[in-house]
Amino acid sequence: MALARGYAATDASKPLAPFTFERREPNADDVAISIQYCGVCHSDIHTVRNEWKNAVYPIVPGHEIVGVVTAVGSDVTKFKVGDKVGVGCFVDSCVGCASRDLDNEQYMPGLVQTYNSVEADGKTATQGGYSDHIVVKEGYVLSIPDNLPLDATAPLLCAGITLYSPLRHWNAGPGKKVAILGMGGLGHMGVKIAHAMGADVTVLSHSLSKKEDGLKLGADHYYATSDAETFTKLAGTFDLIICTVGVAIDWNAYLGLLKVDGSMVIVGAPEDAIPVHAFSLIPGRRSLSGSMIGSIKETQQMLDFCGKHDIVSEIETIGIQEINEAYERVLKSDVRYRFVIDMASLAA
Ligand code: NAP
Ligand code: ZN
Repeated sequence: MALARGYAATDASKPLAPFTFERREPNADDVAISIQYCGVCHSDIHTVRNEWKNAVYPIVPGHEIVGVVTAVGSDVTKFKVGDKVGVGCFVDSCVGCASRDLDNEQYMPGLVQTYNSVEADGKTATQGGYSDHIVVKEGYVLSIPDNLPLDATAPLLCAGITLYSPLRHWNAGPGKKVAILGMGGLGHMGVKIAHAMGADVTVLSHSLSKKEDGLKLGADHYYATSDAETFTKLAGTFDLIICTVGVAIDWNAYLGLLKVDGSMVIVGAPEDAIPVHAFSLIPGRRSLSGSMIGSIKETQQMLDFCGKHDIVSEIETIGIQEINEAYERVLKSDVRYRFVIDMASLAA
């Protein structure tokens, strides 16, 4: 066992605070990673504040992890000491599953999430990337393309794959009109990736305050959803709308922006149920679906795609001591566009 230092939540209402815990020594199939940077996802906040009613404390959040390999087990073949690697939202899957589907691994019942989950042994709590190191099975470690800077790559491990996967699944590309609803951590990655895939990209944001950024990041059009005219002007326009907003919206109004056979895909995760009228779907044979992160195979594809197209996140780097203030700023949408924790600050 090695002692790890990090920051944890011990209760839904308390701020995150320094926390020491044990990580296992690497097994034969494990990779030990010194964490350099970790992105701050809105899901970290939902989880530690128990908004999804599944928190088991203490929780060390963080699932946008990048770092450098410090040791490998005897059976590891893909990684060596010194490699630049990433870890995303899960660290094991298909534990006890009858069948294993590597293309849809994130949907398997045996999924072990990077934090607030229990390892394959059935008892050890997983703890995430707001910490100095992590030990992960080789099959759940990703290679980071050499041309990408580590800090701005961290958010690709969740925000990047969460948008890449539905964009690919619903065939975003040339000739397709794609709307990204909400331009935050997930949304701004969606703009960059959909643009690189060749789609015609529209941002639907609650105001025009980030319009200049949106157009720079690759959007072709930018509309404010606070303006009622947006909904009349864009009625029946989109093949695909990806909703990254994590609060209640007027779902029926957005469904009206889809073409015949268009799909609206939910990735933002509000607390409350979603009220939808049958007649928001029936007349245009429209679909409302959800999507969750991506498989390890697809996450590696996404990283390679981002390497090829020089895509990283727009980030603001913070020390771990600033994490509680950063959470408040995320809640106010006061970040352009993802906080990334420099883990060297743990030593300060
Ligand atoms: P974020 O950085 O806070 O972005 C959310 C965006 O939603 C904001 O930038 C804002 O964009 C928009 N928004 C509209 N009304 C809002 C309001 N009242 N309060 C806050 N934001 C509002 O969050 P994120 O990290 O991108 O995550 C977004 C959601 O996706 C969260 O619910 C998160 O848990 C979920 N998530 C899901 C998956 C998955 O696999 N499905 C993975 C990761 C995260 P505008 O200013 O442009 O309107
Ligand atoms: Zn996330």
